[in-house]
Amino acid sequence: METPLELLQALRAGPEPLVLLHGRVIDGLGSEPLDDGFVVCRGGRIESVGSMSAYRRPTEATSIELDVGGRTLLPGLIDCHAHLVYDGFTTLDALDRCSVETATINALLNAGRVLRAGYTTIRDVGTVANAAVAVRDAIDAGKVPGPRIVASGQIISPTGGLGDTLPPSWERVAGGLGVIVDGAADVLKVVRRQIRAGVDNVKLAASGVEVGPYAYTWMTTMREDEITTAVHEAHRWGRTTAVHCQSYDAVKYALRAGSDTIEHATRLDDEGIALFQRGDSVLVPTMCTLFSVLELGETLNLKPKQREEMAVNEPLWLKSVADAYAAGVPIAAGGDLGNRYPHGTNAREIRHLVRAGLSPMDAIRAATGVAARALRREHLVGALEAGRRADVIVVDGDPLADVTVLEDHARMALVIKDGRLVSGARYEAAFRG
Ligand SMILES: [Zn+2]
Repeated sequence: METPLELLQALRAGPEPLVLLHGRVIDGLGSEPLDDGFVVCRGGRIESVGSMSAYRRPTEATSIELDVGGRTLLPGLIDCHAHLVYDGFTTLDALDRCSVETATINALLNAGRVLRAGYTTIRDVGTVANAAVAVRDAIDAGKVPGPRIVASGQIISPTGGLGDTLPPSWERVAGGLGVIVDGAADVLKVVRRQIRAGVDNVKLAASGVEVGPYAYTWMTTMREDEITTAVHEAHRWGRTTAVHCQSYDAVKYALRAGSDTIEHATRLDDEGIALFQRGDSVLVPTMCTLFSVLELGETLNLKPKQREEMAVNEPLWLKSVADAYAAGVPIAAGGDLGNRYPHGTNAREIRHLVRAGLSPMDAIRAATGVAARALRREHLVGALEAGRRADVIVVDGDPLADVTVLEDHARMALVIKDGRLVSGARYEAAFRG
């Protein structure tokens, strides 16, 4: 795309309106792609989408038309399971040793990497101190580039659970990835404190995790009343919830509580599937969590506990996703990136969802329309549809034929957020130093 510098500058300023012409439109909702389509953005929102045969040029002198030359137009991608503070740590306690200041700087830099990968919205599901809220606010204020962030606080975890990495004789004062609760009264207090501190989402750890020192993935570490208390309180304040569930019962407790999303679902039986079908929860299976260990193996310095659990979990996890997909459970993309696969390679999750059995279209929906539903922001993002925010990516290639084109930085021609050009290979070539 030989876009002149002046045009890129105008696109960066946010033209009114901005029209993208002659693109192959994949709307994020599963509609049949439009082979020769247009998208009109106005006031930071999408005003209209359609076939070129129905296009009428806006009358304003300030409008800009950009011919994308048959490239693919998609909604800005969404990652529902991010931890911006993850930055190459091999264990959770290594992350806990990281200072709040360093963790916040890492999160800020990683937000930029995610945006450059075409991800215009992410949900951060666990941070150090309150870093995700601070980064969200800095981006919203226009101080630094980054995706819109649905921010969580620390991961709410019981003693000995996912968020508790300390030796038994030590006491946690503050900081770290986890906040420790025991009993519904603790849960209520922590959820309300997090809401006071500005979170959009509450993250709980209801089961163990491979990388944790104490609890195993198949253990349900939180009681049902603790989970129910957290979910109901978050909802009362208009916040969403995400629950880390790798055991059969954790999934059921979180579904019965009405959690907006279930993370991982490494173990999922028929009762769990039936609960999904009765409710409105979305599954975020985080296939990168599994496949990164299988692919990177010993380079990750895996501990024996982690290696053993992953070996047990692999077939169960793949069966969970296959069974959920066959049963029509909504599946959203979340990469859990940053410690194994680096930030900015978020579209690997789309490839891994295809590897786990989803069709390319459903894997793309998982990172667009269904992801927006998981975040309860389907009115706002996730589709090329009139009324939603004008978050659009222009991709060189056909992701329905090969979803890995979404991972190729050189093919991510333009990234548009709120109707403004914010990143993309063309953008960087023009503006780099
Ligand atoms: Zn995670």
